[in-house]
Amino acid sequence: MTARRLDGALVARQIREELRGRLAGLVARGIRPGLGALLVGDDPASAVYVRNKTRTCEELGLVHETRRLPVTATTDEVIQAVRDFNRRGEIHGILVQLPLPPQVDARRVLDAVQEEKDIDGFHPANVGRLVQKRPRFVPCTPAGIMELLARSGIEIAGRRAVVLGRSDIVGKPMALLLTHADATVTVCHSRTRELAAVTREADLLVAAVGRPGMLRAEHVKPGAVVVDVGINRISDKGAARDLLDPERLAEFERRGHALVGDVHAPSVAAVAGALTPVPGGVGPLTIAMLVSNTLRAAANAG
Ligand code: NDP
Repeated sequence: MTARRLDGALVARQIREELRGRLAGLVARGIRPGLGALLVGDDPASAVYVRNKTRTCEELGLVHETRRLPVTATTDEVIQAVRDFNRRGEIHGILVQLPLPPQVDARRVLDAVQEEKDIDGFHPANVGRLVQKRPRFVPCTPAGIMELLARSGIEIAGRRAVVLGRSDIVGKPMALLLTHADATVTVCHSRTRELAAVTREADLLVAAVGRPGMLRAEHVKPGAVVVDVGINRISDKGAARDLLDPERLAEFERRGHALVGDVHAPSVAAVAGALTPVPGGVGPLTIAMLVSNTLRAAANAG
């Protein structure tokens, strides 16, 4: 069996078209949605993420602004930048790109984002609303995964779901969304015993671990739907040979690095019923949902 490929890039394109329509509706009401991004330090991956997000805003015609702070910035300086965005009426959504440098207290920074502009859904008030199933902003990656599953016709209600990872950004909100969609959900983490026995129970398996190719065929029930959230940059030749198909391996040889997920795609594709690719799976949906949340913030403010 070869798993059906769940094409996140394609679904993200559909969503972007719908966003154009929603944006036009807002502009007709005199509202021009704006996103303020905060980038602290010079982590190259973070810079790429922010660039991809603002490029999508640009493509769709949203107002956007990126404020850059040096890697030496203090917590108070970052909070001040957040407050500047909070104050400005033309900025409806605020994105604080993570991770922040170690001297910055990320919790205090995220708490400083005005709840109504918290398009990532990380503020405790928005987390609480999500827990109570009356969300204002759903964190973008899990929200994007739910869209992908719905638009791919994948049934959730009544099924066994296993979420691998318990981060505030992906694992926890993912588990909540699946619970609200009537799945029976198990959350696994680094202290889970007999991991493969647990993950093999899953009809729907979401991997958000941050370990290249960790989830292998032995973790997957035949026919299961597997969502690979991981984005890992590899530069090791042995890992590349193990994880990449010949075409991507040739690209790796040219570039010296490649992006891979948490799923060992070559072995899992032979067992799973459906699988998201990396790249081109969950990543593009995350960005589409960020824009969607910005439009919602603007509509609520207008
Ligand atoms: P975190 O590092 O915050 O969380 C990782 C989770 O995986 C933790 O709960 C950890 O357990 C668990 N874990 C680590 N090692 C193991 C193991 N050996 N067995 C079982 N569980 C393990 O990562 P994030 O949730 O932020 O991100 C996860 C991945 O998703 C990363 O690759 C990241 O780049 C990617 N990502 C992709 C996005 C996208 O748009 N596609 C968006 C956000 C993230 P414990 O809690 O016990 O430490």
